[in-house]
Amino acid sequence: MSMKAVFLEQDGALTDDNGGHANPRCITLCSGAGPALRLLARLDYRFFVVSNQDGVAHGHFAEAALEPVRHRLADLLFREQLGLDGFYYCPHHPDGRIAAYALDCLCRQPMPGLLLKAAREHDIDLQASWMIGAILHDIEAGNRAGCRTVLIDSGNETEWRLGRHRLPTRVVSDLCAAADVIAAADTARP
Ligand SMILES: [Zn+2]
Repeated sequence: MSMKAVFLEQDGALTDDNGGHANPRCITLCSGAGPALRLLARLDYRFFVVSNQDGVAHGHFAEAALEPVRHRLADLLFREQLGLDGFYYCPHHPDGRIAAYALDCLCRQPMPGLLLKAAREHDIDLQASWMIGAILHDIEAGNRAGCRTVLIDSGNETEWRLGRHRLPTRVVSDLCAAADVIAAADTARP
């Protein structure tokens, strides 16, 4: 049977936005993340972290630096009795300085490539899944993948460029409220 996923944009949705993408020791979970995600785990959702990591393409850090980030996230979640089922990132940027990563790809959000890849690799039912993001690019990626979407409006989005694919299913103020929205929709399903 295929699984239900909650895709979490790393910065601003799951972790505090500290600008220290590639420094694992600076990564901390948003307050309330543990109870919020345990609620969803009890409803059989699995957790996938997704992020644009264009610092790789720009030469700010090597792709290998993301492995300790994955470890750190898995460790933080483990301490909350939670599992991390996948960590997917896009290392590309069309204007990148590092030739191997300087390309137009389908995995850089707002494109949905990361979610589609995770779905293929883990047999995820995207229609039964959710994307939680902090900016409209995340929401667009989730909508394009066929998920429902929750925008955590914590001030990260500054442009509010709306358009096709960019309307979230719900807008909330924090991860706890996002989990409540998903849990309520889940229990209301026939
Ligand atoms: Zn990419």
